[in-house]
Amino acid sequence: MKRFQLRIYSIKLLFGLVTFFFVSVSLAQVTYEIEPGLSFKETDLRNVKKEVQQMERYFDIPFNDLHIMVTNNCFRTGYSYKEKTIQFCDQVSTIFAGLQSLDVIRHELFHAFICQEYPFLCTSEIMKKANVKAIHEALADWYTSLFDRTPHFGEHFYTDKKFVRSYQNDYCFDLVIGEHLKGNSILSGLLAKNFSFLAILNSIKSEKQFMDLIELSKKKSCLGHTEFEFIPEQIKKSKLNRYRLNRNEELHFELPFYGLENLRLKYHYPKEIISVRTSGDKVIVKGLQKGISKVSVQLFDSGRLIGIQSLYFRVR
Ligand SMILES: [Zn+2]
Repeated sequence: MKRFQLRIYSIKLLFGLVTFFFVSVSLAQVTYEIEPGLSFKETDLRNVKKEVQQMERYFDIPFNDLHIMVTNNCFRTGYSYKEKTIQFCDQVSTIFAGLQSLDVIRHELFHAFICQEYPFLCTSEIMKKANVKAIHEALADWYTSLFDRTPHFGEHFYTDKKFVRSYQNDYCFDLVIGEHLKGNSILSGLLAKNFSFLAILNSIKSEKQFMDLIELSKKKSCLGHTEFEFIPEQIKKSKLNRYRLNRNEELHFELPFYGLENLRLKYHYPKEIISVRTSGDKVIVKGLQKGISKVSVQLFDSGRLIGIQSLYFRVR
């Protein structure tokens, strides 16, 4: 009898240990870290912790391996799919390392969520493919928009900007550059067509279905698949749109979309290093003095901003 009771006790003890083990593992599913030397406290992470819980409730799925840290040893706030880590980057240009921007917190958590639940979308191979990051950005903004009462993403993030971007816009996928603007174009297309976030998310079973979101989001008013390119006349086109010229030298580019009605281009650049003017079907860039200059080009269709392009010049 006694021996039997003893066995029951040891079974109970074993169960206790197993439960304890599971409890401690489940507590360690999201870990938090503040880099030593920074003035942040554990309580400054309260928005992040709340959003972690909200996301776990929304999808009814716990995070099982996510590290969240505040650091100043970084370039920008973001999620690393390789390290399964969200970094809140403490920089002068960001307010309180981004810890007060619920939009940015939700956006980064969504990156972590999708990489946990759809690991085939977060391999090093797929991340190298063109436009994959843009779709990730679109979906992360989409999740964020579900909880946002404003039309803007990322309030309380930058010290010098009211918000990071708007959820809806007229950008055309093929006419903007960079994963965030392209992602912005995908999301606004999906929102304009009234797709359901969860239905889209549940429909992604393969890489192809993920990539198909670009086509699904495309707007009718986007000039087909036309490239928004500036092709120089005298020299080879630079893939990254980076050119060198001497003082007083002129570079001539073919004016994209020349002759198409309703389309207008606007150039923004600091005026001291180069000048930009159009003449007939050409854009003429002239070097004025030594330095580096960026020209942001905006393409408008009947007043709607549909394309954004950047050109870089180094004057010798
Ligand atoms: Zn992102």
